[in-house]
Amino acid sequence: MSLLVQKYGGTSVGSIERIEAVAEKVIGYREQGNDMVVVVSAMSGETNRLAALAQEINPRANGRELDVLLTTGEQVTIALLSMAFEKRGYAAKSYTGGQVRITTDSAHNKARIKSIDNENIQRDLDSGHIVVVAGFQGIDEHGNITTLGRGGSDTTGVALAAALKADECQIFTDVDGVYTTDPRVEPDARRLKAISFEEMLEMASLGSKVLQIRAVEFAQKYQVPLRVLSSFEEGEGTLITTEYEVEDIMEQALISGIAFNRDEAQLTINGVADTPGIAYQILGPISDANIEVDMILQNVSADGSTDFTFTVHRNDYETAFASLQKTAESLDAREVSGNNRIVKISIVGVGMRSHAGIASRMFEYLAKEGINILMISTSEIKVSVVVDEKYLELGVRALHEGFDLTQEG
Ligand code: ADP
Ligand code: ASP
Ligand code: MG
Repeated sequence: MSLLVQKYGGTSVGSIERIEAVAEKVIGYREQGNDMVVVVSAMSGETNRLAALAQEINPRANGRELDVLLTTGEQVTIALLSMAFEKRGYAAKSYTGGQVRITTDSAHNKARIKSIDNENIQRDLDSGHIVVVAGFQGIDEHGNITTLGRGGSDTTGVALAAALKADECQIFTDVDGVYTTDPRVEPDARRLKAISFEEMLEMASLGSKVLQIRAVEFAQKYQVPLRVLSSFEEGEGTLITTEYEVEDIMEQALISGIAFNRDEAQLTINGVADTPGIAYQILGPISDANIEVDMILQNVSADGSTDFTFTVHRNDYETAFASLQKTAESLDAREVSGNNRIVKISIVGVGMRSHAGIASRMFEYLAKEGINILMISTSEIKVSVVVDEKYLELGVRALHEGFDLTQEG
């Protein structure tokens, strides 16, 4: 007897018909002799709708109340899905995150799971129930409801699979696996049979929203076999596993995928004195304002002064700009400028470790399309560039073609 944890995303439970279809699908697996734990998201659009209601009442609503509101979306789908099982003659029981006792820290809207009590779920499984759990939510040590950040139901699924030692965690969504890049941007993108935890982690943190970053972190840490599959078509999907196992399944490609992030903005301060501590004086106030800095670039000019450029989340652009202007006054800088119409495009692949010249090939493919690179950053298994947002589609497609990603790798 195997234990499967399956997570169904918003589109997969987006209507009554689709919830009924999920029930049928889960029963199919159950009839093959598997114990089933099902994690669901809110119906598609519901979390956005709730967030917009809060925005109308109070744009600065506190995190605790926002979480009380946002978690209701998932409470609806767990109840409806459980009813669909009952109607078909299967015992089912729904749980909110708090009822399971998924304990998190108290960072509302972006809480981290600390522990999971699997006693209730195990008891229900033992007595033949299908267990249905609300994704994206938990409870802190004071009993406050928390949420895990957008896309957090993936993390609930993987964390439950780890806690219950499930045989596999299956993420059912509206695409039939992880692709070489977002198929909405590159229709020629190809489904990967498998991808390593490490590469998936890079893809997720560089902007591929197919899996929440923390879900991949959990899966890697606890070695949970993780698979992304379609809710709507049959198929084997994409297995996310160790690099070693990926090698067994498919030939290693130089580049596994292309990720992009539209949420970036760039800020520059020109003509500051090049003295020790200058980076701290510029970035200290940014970090004090709770703004995360992504890429950083510093240039020293011939006259000995320095220019400093960095990127932040687009939502933080105005606040960061205001803070930088203040710093510029105190440092007597020449000027401050910014651009919130930029994007980051990244190539990811463990194959880069053993092959030189990948970055220059990337620059060549972009140059051929006349795409100007504003910033570059590299690490062991990725190269990222910042470009004007108007080049996003063109850039992704040029790289996809250049690195031959359409071909079976
Ligand atoms: P769910 O609501 O099921 O959680 P999401 O919208 O969060 O679904 O994630 C699925 C979407 O992720 C797909 O529709 C696709 O547009 C997007 N996506 C981005 N990058 C990739 C990729 N590399 N492979 C597959 N899908 C991707
Ligand atoms: N409903 C939440 C969201 O839209 C969580 C999730 O779907 O994973 O972000
Ligand atoms: Mg998602």
